[in-house]
Amino acid sequence: MFKRQALIAWVALVAITVMPFSALAQTPVKYHSNKYSVQDDIKLGRQAAQEAESQFPLLRDENVRGYVEDVGRRLVAGIPSEFQHPEFQYYFKVVNARDINAFALPGGPMYVNRGMIEAARSEGEMAGVMAHEISHVALRHGTAQATKGQKYSILGGIAGIAGTILGGPGVGQLAQAPFAVYLLKFSREYETEADILGARIMANAGYDPRDLANMFQTIERQGGGGGGFLSDHPSPSDRYARINREAQYLRVSPNSGDSRQFARIQERLRGYQRAPSMAEIARSGQRYPVGEPTGNYPNENYPNNPPSGRVAYPSSRYQNYNIFNGGVQVSVPSNWRQVNDNNSVWFVPDGAYGQYNGQAVYTHGASFGVAQTSNRNLQSATQELINGLAQGNTNLRTNGGYQRTTLSGRTALFSTLSNVNEATGRPETVRLVTTQLRNGQLFYMIAVAPQNERGFDNAFEQILRSVRLND
Ligand SMILES: [Zn+2]
Repeated sequence: MFKRQALIAWVALVAITVMPFSALAQTPVKYHSNKYSVQDDIKLGRQAAQEAESQFPLLRDENVRGYVEDVGRRLVAGIPSEFQHPEFQYYFKVVNARDINAFALPGGPMYVNRGMIEAARSEGEMAGVMAHEISHVALRHGTAQATKGQKYSILGGIAGIAGTILGGPGVGQLAQAPFAVYLLKFSREYETEADILGARIMANAGYDPRDLANMFQTIERQGGGGGGFLSDHPSPSDRYARINREAQYLRVSPNSGDSRQFARIQERLRGYQRAPSMAEIARSGQRYPVGEPTGNYPNENYPNNPPSGRVAYPSSRYQNYNIFNGGVQVSVPSNWRQVNDNNSVWFVPDGAYGQYNGQAVYTHGASFGVAQTSNRNLQSATQELINGLAQGNTNLRTNGGYQRTTLSGRTALFSTLSNVNEATGRPETVRLVTTQLRNGQLFYMIAVAPQNERGFDNAFEQILRSVRLND
């Protein structure tokens, strides 16, 4: 149920987290003037991400990608509120290249080279580079630079690839954009800002901000100059000292991560064949299959086969999850797993999800998402959402009206729909609960199970009661 095409337009919720009071001694960071809209950043980033993914081999290892994603999500939750753009969709992928490099695109797509993970001496060092990259995105440096009419330098190591991006077929829109090159070389001023904001994000996410400085030393020691990170991110003269000075004023939050995880991931990577360099990748001229322009998780962690629909009963033990950067807390049966499907998050038992006709399909489970709507009326906004779902699911029927209920203490609407599962052909019941977020967007929970399987009713009810919104 629920093909993801219908969900693409929906934006993920980025929670506004409470940040520690900024000490006066911290260096202030501000936006530069920018004549482009936030939507321009998103659009440019999406096009560039699609192109980048056709040019770079992604490391298809869900353990590694999931790990980098976890670190990335903690960092994104640590972005100070004045630099959070709820419309941005940050996501993190690993490129199977050995150069010590990483890059982020406007609006949030981010790529970390395998070489970067292998070179870092700790999770904090890897997180440092990611926090720096996230800062370029949050500060909207790409379009700010375009506003100034500055000419972009193309990255040394992948110049050939960037050239293809400009001239290649199928990127007409991008080539017509006034800022056609997405792999930017930033000025030293922007670099300093990304270091300062990066240090702040590190502290908020529970990392020692000095690890950002340490990573630059690690990169230098390992020769990250030519074609690597330091050629794309020119070093301000006192970079190391400056980050460490900034770190004195920052209070490091507790870190929720598992400190042994980094070593396990490095060990795993050592088991792979040596990765090609970016230059070798460029020379090979090979193209790779491109997934969805956003999110694109299903292509990586979905089984290729359709869901069997044969699943275990929900466990009576429950596990807590924080999703949407901590904006939503929820408790689900411990034998279900989290699957990120573009802008929604599913919790499903094994056997309940897979692909059918190239689409993600679910037979049992609960999902959460945020729909962008201009409709301030809960019932009309919900109807708009149902109409959107019906576009991607032609068998979807509403069964009567709405019932009032509560979700996380807020007024909510409950409705029941029926559908025929694309993969199994079985009739299924879809329960939809919607409520409004403080910013006016529509938060929803969808629960799906075959019509004749009532064993999931209790679980869905418990999940619904466990939802806490922290927006
Ligand atoms: Zn930089």
